Amino acid sequence: MQKKHLLPFFLTIIVAAVSAGSVVEYFSPEWGFFGHRRINRMAVFTLDQDMMPFFRANLEYLTDHAVDPDKRRYATKHEAVRHYVDIDHWGTYPYPNVPRDWAEALLWKAEVQEIKSSGDTLVWTVDTIVRVNRNGPEEEIFNGNVPTATLPTKKLPQVSVYATDSVHLSSSAGDKFSLALGDYRTFWYQYMIGQYYEDDWLLECRVQATLNWPVSGDCSRFRYVDHFSEYGILPYHLLQMKGRLTNAFIDKDPAKILRLCAEFGHYIGDAHVPLHTTENYNGQMTDQVGIHGFWESRIVELFADDNYDYFVGKAEYIEDPKAYFWEVVMKSNSLVDSVLMTEKRLSVQYPVDQQFCYEDRADITIRTQCREYAAAWSAAMDGMVEERFRASILGIGSVWYTCWVDAGQPNLDLLLGEGYKAPELDSLERAFRSEKIKGRDHGS
Ligand SMILES: [Zn+2]
Repeated sequence: MQKKHLLPFFLTIIVAAVSAGSVVEYFSPEWGFFGHRRINRMAVFTLDQDMMPFFRANLEYLTDHAVDPDKRRYATKHEAVRHYVDIDHWGTYPYPNVPRDWAEALLWKAEVQEIKSSGDTLVWTVDTIVRVNRNGPEEEIFNGNVPTATLPTKKLPQVSVYATDSVHLSSSAGDKFSLALGDYRTFWYQYMIGQYYEDDWLLECRVQATLNWPVSGDCSRFRYVDHFSEYGILPYHLLQMKGRLTNAFIDKDPAKILRLCAEFGHYIGDAHVPLHTTENYNGQMTDQVGIHGFWESRIVELFADDNYDYFVGKAEYIEDPKAYFWEVVMKSNSLVDSVLMTEKRLSVQYPVDQQFCYEDRADITIRTQCREYAAAWSAAMDGMVEERFRASILGIGSVWYTCWVDAGQPNLDLLLGEGYKAPELDSLERAFRSEKIKGRDHGS
């Protein structure tokens, strides 16, 4: 199988336009621009009368901007990791060892370097996070009461940490020590999370010492290295988006509400795609390169118009957003084996010369999976793509609705008619058209 161009559809068109006459391989990212737009658009129709007029009035905006997060991957290296989580990199389903809390996930895999005046470096890493006494008295020592300046949200996630929960670390010199998980996590929220977008996470020795950390006499500074984010932060980012959108509703800021709704929709859509939850995101580990676009772009573009049922029901209030985001990701991940195995089986059984076809689009000839072959795979997956597509639509409507309810149900009719300006659009569009993706291609 020829290696595919990992280029978004628009870019593919551009490339093709300057090399007219040549055949290009078809590949578009994630649900594809088509899928993301359609999902956001249909989500509007899950809303009730309190929300519908405002969202209906901005239907085109919510549709068009469903793909902004993909475009932003060309503008900043921090964007790509928000679109996926390679959760199988960290263990096996259902991944009980992977912290569901953002700060805890970061501290779990962080490398903590004590840099000494001599230039020597002592490296500390976490061996285990031990949670005990889960059935004992609920002695919460951390309840989200941390300085708001360190987080972009007004509402902080409520998390349960018990006094008996602990973090065990060891150093490159063979030393070991442990500290209370609640203390360490509070410390991360206070000093480290705010540095998330810096290239270097630096801390003074005296600050590190407030943790009862075994700081050396000749300590110069501490440096933290993040080894978690590169494998994707999707479910954690969803919770951040929940906080931001709720705050936008509280602020009754129509531009912010629309921008965040459009983008939140994108990430919710991504979370429903099985191949966004695995390290083998494009079949590159199983000789199935191209399967990512086949699943979420080709199949959807062929069959979503005529065959999919868009009656998904009404948006519902989500009691526990964090649990819901993780449920979505876990469900997606549970489907990964089925996605890979059905395609593998079919690619062996199906006549090779009938798997790929050439299609003319405008002046371009595109090599892509044949319609009949795509239909055969879709049937082999027993409607999975449509089910995830429908679940995305309902999920998006439900998270919009939940944020609005949590914001106190502001009267959106008062925001009707307020024009929207997208200050970021020009630079995003420019970056998207002219640059390479920063970080992993295709967002996983
Ligand atoms: Zn994406």
